[in-house]
Amino acid sequence: GAQPGGLYSPGDPLVLLQVDTLERSVLNSSSAWLVEFYASWCGHCVHFAPTWRALAADIQEWSPAVKLGVLDCADIANQKACGDFGITGFPTLKFFKAFSKSPETGTKVFHPGDSIQNLRQNIITNLEMHKETWPPACPPLEPASEEEIRGFFQTNNVTYLALIFETNDSFVGREVTLDMLQYENVAVRRVLSSEEELVKKYGVTAFPSGFLLINNGTFSRIPVQMEARSFYTHFLRRLPGVTRGPYTLTSLPDTPINTTSTPRRPADRSKVYMADLESALHYALRVEVARFSVLTGEQLRALKYFVAVLAKYFPGRPFVQNFLRSVDRWLRNVRESRISSSALELVLTNRKEVTPAVLSNNVTWVGCQGSKLHFRGYPCSLWTLFHLLTVQATRHPVSPPPPGPLEVLGAMRGYIRSFFGCRECAQHFEGMAVKSMDKVRSVDQAALWLWSRHNRVNARLAGTETEDPEFPKLQWPPPDLCPACHGVVNRRHVWDEAAVLRFLKAHFSPANIILDYTE
Ligand code: FAD
Repeated sequence: GAQPGGLYSPGDPLVLLQVDTLERSVLNSSSAWLVEFYASWCGHCVHFAPTWRALAADIQEWSPAVKLGVLDCADIANQKACGDFGITGFPTLKFFKAFSKSPETGTKVFHPGDSIQNLRQNIITNLEMHKETWPPACPPLEPASEEEIRGFFQTNNVTYLALIFETNDSFVGREVTLDMLQYENVAVRRVLSSEEELVKKYGVTAFPSGFLLINNGTFSRIPVQMEARSFYTHFLRRLPGVTRGPYTLTSLPDTPINTTSTPRRPADRSKVYMADLESALHYALRVEVARFSVLTGEQLRALKYFVAVLAKYFPGRPFVQNFLRSVDRWLRNVRESRISSSALELVLTNRKEVTPAVLSNNVTWVGCQGSKLHFRGYPCSLWTLFHLLTVQATRHPVSPPPPGPLEVLGAMRGYIRSFFGCRECAQHFEGMAVKSMDKVRSVDQAALWLWSRHNRVNARLAGTETEDPEFPKLQWPPPDLCPACHGVVNRRHVWDEAAVLRFLKAHFSPANIILDYTE
């Protein structure tokens, strides 16, 4: 299964959190924290990781005031912690003020896809929201007044005061202030362009521009090629008598990161593995659904529908089928408009009594094992599961009209929309569903619809950083798996859909599922 460190490594300039370090790091801390809760299997988290890593490097020097951390919610060990912190989708960024008392006090920072600059400015805005519990290591960020500057060297024992004159919406002054927080013998304050007296006194004509005041009473324009953060910071750090202070980049004595990778399990691409399917069920029901402390309305309906389809079509081992049927029975009997995750947890507990009803608590990827921990895994198994279910539905003798041809696709759509942690994947899928799912007229068309939409996703993702180099995203099934599926008309590739349907029915049939690596 997933292991600590997923997308990040100890060499990255951020704190790798784990279930046992999360609360004692983030809560009651003298610094603020911005934590990325991610899932190593989530493609958008993979896309976002370089940005987050670059942001961490960019503001590394701010760390006594604000620290960056990451926690992999795909690691089963962290599952409950992610629930306690209210994480339901990935990636989620949460800002915790210094001395935060409880997990609920974190505030969401939106637009995780944003640029480093936006994220950095967002951090500053959040830092400024501190009221009485200002992080002790964070210098003042509010604009300086004429009066404060006049008496500055009487009350502050430093040689230099840098003033960054700027407009109200500029962040340069605050960024330089934070960049310099670990440096001694120099202070930085921002002055707003509306502070007329100071603007006049120093003859400021451009915003931003920097001035250096020395405690002997002299002042001069900070000589930089560009009026920008990095130029000011570079200049100030090299002033004679300015030294980097005693702050060290504190990191907790982390639990050792377990980087020993799981052994590779040889898999046959032409087979379907029960271990992947059962892992998908476990992860979907006991991890993804369990993230929500209460289920009502659309989510509750989606869960009931999903489990009903599983109970009807999943070609599981007898004790797994018992398990699904008993969960289904329980859900059908729920009369309340809401259920709690703790009630559901009980129902999802394995029973080994007279009729065992058991679903393994393990996650073991075989056909879905990636060459690295963050590749493949859960989303791969979820596709496999739903392909299998659409095909199973075609084998039922004339399924009675009420559920209709959309029975399985509807269950999938509801599950993805309500629970799939990769929220952007869910949006993409919903977009495809809105466009064409209701044009499906038969159970055969339903299996083909899912096949062709999955290929569209494959085409979109081919060559991106979420692609496992050892498992390139192909238009599937490739010719070696199904020669008859491929044809050429007017020198263009065409699918033979009848052959594809035959292939899907054979590939996703109970006879093609093998039990290797199941318990
Ligand atoms: P997968 O694409 O997961 O395929 C799993 C297995 O299914 C393959 O190994 C193959 O045996 C079989 N298969 C492949 N293609 C087909 C097909 N056309 N028909 C039938 N069987 C097939 N990731 C993103 O980065 N962005 C997204 O927007 C995104 N959206 C997603 C939406 C959904 C609903 C799901 C379930 C996942 C989504 N993902 C997205 C994840 C992504 O599609 C892959 O699941 C993930 O990158 C793992 O890829 P994989 O190589 O294991 O193969």
